[in-house]
Amino acid sequence: MAKRTTKKTATKQSKTAAPKVELKAHLLNPTFKLAANGKVESITGTCIEAGCKIKRTIKPQDAFQVRRCTECQKTALSEKLAEKRKTKRRAASVAKEAAAAKKHAAGQPKPTAKAKAR
Ligand SMILES: [Zn+2]
Repeated sequence: MAKRTTKKTATKQSKTAAPKVELKAHLLNPTFKLAANGKVESITGTCIEAGCKIKRTIKPQDAFQVRRCTECQKTALSEKLAEKRKTKRRAASVAKEAAAAKKHAAGQPKPTAKAKAR
């Protein structure tokens, strides 16, 4: 009969006011608002854009992606989309040119091979 000794290695750490979960807020000077249960309820921080001092309050689950205030985010997003469109258009025109060049080089497409079979 083996005596079972359950080792309890519960390291008790001193309770601190800081949130347990390491939240990486991209907003500047983030302040964490804690709920009654100790969880982060919301984060308030300043927009990262230079010259922008707008504060924004976000949910902790958005902390990893929110860097700007809603206005700057909109601007940044539209810029990003414009850039994307531009590169896409450029790629499309290059592909079109390449296809046209190929077609030109190959000449007229051959009549179907099946017609020759019989
Ligand atoms: Zn801003």
